[in-house]
Amino acid sequence: MDVSAYIEDVYQEVRRRGPGEAEFHQAATEVLTSLRPVLERHPEYAGSGILERLVEPERQLMFRVPWVDDAGRVRVNRGFRVEFNSALGPYKGGLRFHPSVNLGIVKFLGFEQIFKNALTGMAIGGGKGGSDFDPKGRSDGEVMRFCQSFMTELYRHLGEHTDVPAGDIGVGAREIGFLFGQYKRITNRYESGVLTGKPVGWGGSNVRTEATGYGTVYFAEEMLAGRGHSFDGRRVVVSGSGNVAVYAIEKVHALGGTVVACSDSSGYLVDEDGIDLALLKEVKEVRRERIQAYAEARPTARFSSRGTVYDVPCEVALPCATQNEVRRDDAVALVKHGVLAVAEGANMPCTPEAVEVFREAGVLFGPGKAANAGGVATSALEMQQNASRTTWSFADTEAKLATVMRGIHAECRATAETYGGNAEDYVLGSNVAGFLRVAAAMAAQGVV
Ligand code: GLU
Repeated sequence: MDVSAYIEDVYQEVRRRGPGEAEFHQAATEVLTSLRPVLERHPEYAGSGILERLVEPERQLMFRVPWVDDAGRVRVNRGFRVEFNSALGPYKGGLRFHPSVNLGIVKFLGFEQIFKNALTGMAIGGGKGGSDFDPKGRSDGEVMRFCQSFMTELYRHLGEHTDVPAGDIGVGAREIGFLFGQYKRITNRYESGVLTGKPVGWGGSNVRTEATGYGTVYFAEEMLAGRGHSFDGRRVVVSGSGNVAVYAIEKVHALGGTVVACSDSSGYLVDEDGIDLALLKEVKEVRRERIQAYAEARPTARFSSRGTVYDVPCEVALPCATQNEVRRDDAVALVKHGVLAVAEGANMPCTPEAVEVFREAGVLFGPGKAANAGGVATSALEMQQNASRTTWSFADTEAKLATVMRGIHAECRATAETYGGNAEDYVLGSNVAGFLRVAAAMAAQGVV
């Protein structure tokens, strides 16, 4: 069999079926390209149509979300849930509320989620959802009414054994609370495990809030350790200033590094003394303001709306903002400044051109589906606690998260070594290791 031609055929079918779904095409081709050495060893996966089935979601939901704003005006948004793959467990993945959300974005996120979730070794399938609703500038009442309307359609597709959403960009504890309340009201069931990312106190897990950021730093720490380095004394740049970024900064500081810059969609912030986390949390989480307010409150800081955060020299970069934020030029600047490692806290923040620059320069690169799997892994821990009606301590939960991240790192290396001869090829390692778990389950479950 000509494996390359077969993979190209599968990819062309993806493009034909979903014209305009650029981000999904990007995510699909990245994974499919990695699978050549796997299909050469396991031609049986081609025979049972695993690839053709993997790239086609099991179910795709799109629905109208009408709600009334504070001025009494009727607003209409579009809701999505893509239930991509349930070979390993119930569909699992976050909800993103952001004006950029469309089917192509949700499909890319859902597709990535299949492999990420498989890598955790936990019993979770892959899915993703969201809406083009923009929570920015909306009152709590408006956000609540939107969430209630969204759940009024979505509830019929969810269940602790069916589909378990969580947060993503624009969806945090507040939104999860409103969504859970409406699900409970409609179904008349206190089904804790139907949503994760709940606040600690009524079914949420310790460390879930911190998990994606912490996990990304653990992963980067492991990559650095492979070359005899650590975070201690290192200059670090983090993009974004949301949930993932904030807790990545916290963990870098705990490990002795200094995060000197972070960003939001309006620009970036440099603080040579190291980002003051208490102030950043106050600005972002309490006041829900832009990071410019941080610079105004701290004399050592400066804000810039020109260039990108990657213009700031650093030894480790953690892109924690959004997809395709790191362009070729940013990667070239990072390499010029001598970056050692890049680990993706966001989903697919580095463009393929940027990844190529890192590869050529020998920079350690941890792709999101491995490096940011700590969030969803801790969601799976939340599901375990909900199922057994228990709560684990912060320390116990964090220890489990650290174990999962180290396990993913080790598995990526071993798989990359086996299938490509280079343990540091984390792209190959994560794609192949995730694929092997899902493919084995799909093959065993027959053509479904
Ligand atoms: N949205 C997160 C991710 O990209 C978390 C998903 C979850 O916890 O289900 O993995």
